[in-house]
Amino acid sequence: ETPVFDGKISFKNVSFTYPDTGIEAIKDVSFEVEKGQFLAVIGRTGSGKSTLANLIMRMYDTDSGKIEIDDIELRNLNLTNYRNQIGFVPQEVFLFSDTIKNNIAFGLSEVKPGQVEKAAQNAAVYNNIIDFDLKFETMLGERGITLSGGQKQRVSIARALIKEPKILIFDDCLSAVDTKTEEEILGNLGQIMKGKTCILIAHRISTIKNADKIIVLDDGKIIEQGTHQEL
Ligand code: ATP
Repeated sequence: ETPVFDGKISFKNVSFTYPDTGIEAIKDVSFEVEKGQFLAVIGRTGSGKSTLANLIMRMYDTDSGKIEIDDIELRNLNLTNYRNQIGFVPQEVFLFSDTIKNNIAFGLSEVKPGQVEKAAQNAAVYNNIIDFDLKFETMLGERGITLSGGQKQRVSIARALIKEPKILIFDDCLSAVDTKTEEEILGNLGQIMKGKTCILIAHRISTIKNADKIIVLDDGKIIEQGTHQEL
């Protein structure tokens, strides 16, 4: 039986130190994101934003405190099943020497007709792709074409969206797209993430104005928490 998550995430006094360097990247962090909410995380370089995302992905276990998904402790969940329900867009895009289609459909066991195209549309990269002679069959990497930084980011976003995840995590992955394209993607997200949980790590304030909740990290701690208007 595969449990399907609602998508509520809670951090309860979570601390985490990288074992190799001894850097305490997350210090006594507590917050809650309800199912269907849009949480934005901001803070300067090195404040712990990516670490927070990595902890939700369970790349690492917490040293103290608890992370809970739908009130169940993350370390008690089946990791594969859990990760399958999360769309994670990492800061560093990784693409394969394969077709655009296979890059977007990566990890899916079965691709329905139109599914890849729809994900590309929602990630605002569809028009770029159909401009190539071979369209979705265009090869990337050594044997193929090189995409721009912003196009790579959007292919990576399409890969996350195609899973129709319960939880979507964007780790600062809109840095290389222009403001107009960013708005288009965020507008699409508003639709497709209805009733689902979205965590967006960002730099630009404009990116997060529609967030239900904003967390400001500094040196691994939450220094402010609230809505755009409250902060
Ligand atoms: P940026 O905006 O630059 O991406 P960030 O807010 O995402 O920064 P993190 O990447 O979470 O910050 O880093 C928090 C702290 O943990 C930093 O001091 C960083 O040097 C350290 N750190 C990050 N990743 C690792 C790692 N894999 N091993 C050891 N230390 C790390």
